[in-house]
Amino acid sequence: MPKLANIAQLPDFPKLEEEVLAFWDQDQTFKKSVEQRPESKPYIFYDGPPFATGLPHYGHILASTIKDVIPRYWTMKGYRVDRVWGWDCHGLPIENMIEKELDLKGGKKGIETFGIDNFNQACRSAILRFDKDWEVIIRRIGRWVDFKNSYKTMDKTYMESVWWGFAQLDQKELIYQGRKVVLYCPRCATPLSNFEIAMDNSYKDVQDNSVYIKFRRKDTKNEYFLAWTTTPWTLPGNVALAVLPDAEYSKIEIEGDFYWVAKDKVTEVAKMREIHHPEIIETVKGKDLEKIEYEPLFNYMPLDAKKAHYVTTANFVSLTDGTGIVHTAAIYGEDDYALAQEKNLPCVPTLDDEGKFFKFVTPVAGMFYKKAEQTLIDELEKLNLVFKAEKYTHSYPFCYRCSTPLYYSAVPAWFIDVQKLKPELIKSNESVDWYPEHLKHGRFGKGLETAPDWNISRSRYWGTPMPIWVAAGKKSSVGLSTQYRVVSSIEELQKWAVVPSQVESLTDIHREFLDDIEVWIDDAKTVKGKRTPEVFDCWVESGSMPFASRHYPFEHKSEFESSYPAQFISEYIAQTRAWFYCMHVLSVGIFEAPAFQNAVTTGTILAEDGSKMSKSKKNYPDPMLLINKYGVDSLRLYLMSSVVMKADNLNFSEKDVSELRKKIFVIWWNIFSFYKTYTGATPVVVDKAPQATHVMDEWLLSRLSSVITEVTTNLDAYDVVKASRVLIEFVDQLSTWYLRQSRERIKSEDGATAQSVLGYALYVLAQLFAPITPFFSEVMHHNLLDDQSSIHLSEWPQAPVKVDLALEQEMETIKKVAEASHAVRKEKAIKVRQPLAKVMVQATTTKPRAAVLDVLIQEINVKAVEWQQADHFSVQLELDLTPELKEEGQAREVMRQIQQLRKDAEVDVHNSVRVELPEWPEAWTEQIKSKAKVSELVKGSVARIIC
Ligand SMILES: [Zn+2]
Repeated sequence: MPKLANIAQLPDFPKLEEEVLAFWDQDQTFKKSVEQRPESKPYIFYDGPPFATGLPHYGHILASTIKDVIPRYWTMKGYRVDRVWGWDCHGLPIENMIEKELDLKGGKKGIETFGIDNFNQACRSAILRFDKDWEVIIRRIGRWVDFKNSYKTMDKTYMESVWWGFAQLDQKELIYQGRKVVLYCPRCATPLSNFEIAMDNSYKDVQDNSVYIKFRRKDTKNEYFLAWTTTPWTLPGNVALAVLPDAEYSKIEIEGDFYWVAKDKVTEVAKMREIHHPEIIETVKGKDLEKIEYEPLFNYMPLDAKKAHYVTTANFVSLTDGTGIVHTAAIYGEDDYALAQEKNLPCVPTLDDEGKFFKFVTPVAGMFYKKAEQTLIDELEKLNLVFKAEKYTHSYPFCYRCSTPLYYSAVPAWFIDVQKLKPELIKSNESVDWYPEHLKHGRFGKGLETAPDWNISRSRYWGTPMPIWVAAGKKSSVGLSTQYRVVSSIEELQKWAVVPSQVESLTDIHREFLDDIEVWIDDAKTVKGKRTPEVFDCWVESGSMPFASRHYPFEHKSEFESSYPAQFISEYIAQTRAWFYCMHVLSVGIFEAPAFQNAVTTGTILAEDGSKMSKSKKNYPDPMLLINKYGVDSLRLYLMSSVVMKADNLNFSEKDVSELRKKIFVIWWNIFSFYKTYTGATPVVVDKAPQATHVMDEWLLSRLSSVITEVTTNLDAYDVVKASRVLIEFVDQLSTWYLRQSRERIKSEDGATAQSVLGYALYVLAQLFAPITPFFSEVMHHNLLDDQSSIHLSEWPQAPVKVDLALEQEMETIKKVAEASHAVRKEKAIKVRQPLAKVMVQATTTKPRAAVLDVLIQEINVKAVEWQQADHFSVQLELDLTPELKEEGQAREVMRQIQQLRKDAEVDVHNSVRVELPEWPEAWTEQIKSKAKVSELVKGSVARIIC
């Protein structure tokens, strides 16, 4: 299809790419490329479905490029690589977007007033608003993927498989309901999982209150325990003070009052009041302070009839910061909660699920927790209970979606028991190959070792409802469900539904369709239960992608089982703690095997100055404008050959894309254009390698064989960077070495062999580049071989000849000699056209074969080569000119002059011309005439072509 009309002119690469796209569409090349490969030889690749809420950026383009390169390669190797697009539809990002759009106020309450059905319907209809834009961009970058049959995580079939997977985990007793201290977003009214926090930079440096609080010892007038906190909003919830049992604590006197602090902290604390030698009244062990009671700061909190407000001991107390005495608020901290459990302290929340104070906390009732801090400090100041209050900068976690400050809270939640599964998770990772390799036992492996249990429940709406029905009123002493039924399919739901007909007509299993359905909890059908209101963390859904996208095990059973796990997945580095991790946990939990064999992990693309790419700052070029300027092949090659493929960060440089376009595509084009000028429309012969007779052709075929082997080995090892770099170097060798040495031969009457070798090399080069730069490779295919078929349907090339390593090394050596010789000529201002008597080489290698030396002689224009083996490398040129050498130099200059005249006059390379010249060395007349295609050479006053 894209046949080039004008070979002499550099084409518009982006326009050519559009033509290639049209050809692929019309030819249905992608479909053919899948279907022509046998079903019995699958290559499986899992695609992490993107969120459908925004438009693709460079990160997506990078991911999509590698997800295209690898499948194209394996297709050419004869494998069948199905590629179906998927959409991640659920989760907080979409809910937040819809809440904003509908202007729903009041968080969860606002949504529930609006109606879960209305809210979910709004999410559902908004979900694919960007799908067409995605399709346009993904198509334009050349990624082959089936959009038409794309799966969505909101499909009933997909959700049903997620239920099934969860039920498997439950059967293996890997699921439990607990109350765990998690980072909680009061805006989204949901806990966030650790990897959601770890994924991107969720921590920001902020200024917070740092307060030293005086807790008055009971039955004393002015004896205090001094405790330090950076979360004064937790003070109304204070239930105890904790000390380190074996550390020493001292009572000191400051300004007439008495304070208990850790002995190590005495000086520091005293300094706060400008006292340099405080008087220590007494020193005791922490455990000696145990059970001493103090007056509560506030009297608002109901204590659940439990004992509170006394000193207790705990090993987590640190003597690094603060006073060595820790204020404990039971449910707002991981250590606090553990301690409260151990000591049976009251666990009463002071905040509602939107992070606002309950009514009973009178002075700050209804206030957002962070905003209440100053009021609370003021209240305590009035009571003379503040020792010191100041501002202090520290790193604090924020919700990655809505930027609300998070806090730790002990909420009831459902968990996957990662601790129980951990040995298997670590063991299974051993059979996964990571690129780069250090991730295996580094970021990913370490992540597995330290992984906490995975909180998979979200108190939200737009997600797959958890298929857990809980017996009403059956709660443990800490308020957790004790009796429940997990349903693994819609059929099973019908079986246990109290009113089975409710299930019969279900077209959808989102919350609005399920929440009213009651289920028999016990097999005897005596206990009714309601569904636990939570939906799944959307990472459970994306992690279920391998089986859920196929509706396994309800459909595609044998297909799935025979092709699990996938050969290949690829995402950016943060997914080692997210998607890669989730998929691994679910796969090992459900199938007792890893989900993937090879994980290619990319880095992050940053703006050119190393800062984050930011839409508002406009610190990066618009991807579509860039593609339409240079062509997407240049962008693809730029990304694939860069450090970002080694999981390092890449500072994106438009200049580098432009350079690569010149260095590769313009040069490649020039070689091709030269080739076509002398061979015309004759297609290259590619079914067998041409027979080389000239040493340069032998070298090229050997080099080509080496390149094929290197590219294949590297792509087999998922090292796209090395493969790209080998190809980039080869284009340079082809142009600056092979063509430079072979130009005259290719042009000459008996250039047929050289032409066929170059044509063959150009064709194979296009094949090798095809996975990475699919467009220009296709253009080459159509203009070298055949414009009806596609290069992407061809078989991956095999080495055409046995590699002649000795020849390649000899060529490398004389290239070095040539470089050194050219450097000398440049220094002495002697043109290459001026022949010299000889070059004297001292090298560590033996003298190259005669044919190679001839190449050297031609390249550096000398009459002879003297070669000496030595322990070093040096090159010397004989610079004295004999009269014969001078004359030959003049003759060469004349030939060049005539070629220039021909070019200026646009004379066809095949036509002879008459030329007028002021002078030329007479002895060289015939040579000049033949070399420069001159029919007659006449003396005249100026140099010109006579018409
Ligand atoms: Zn949030």
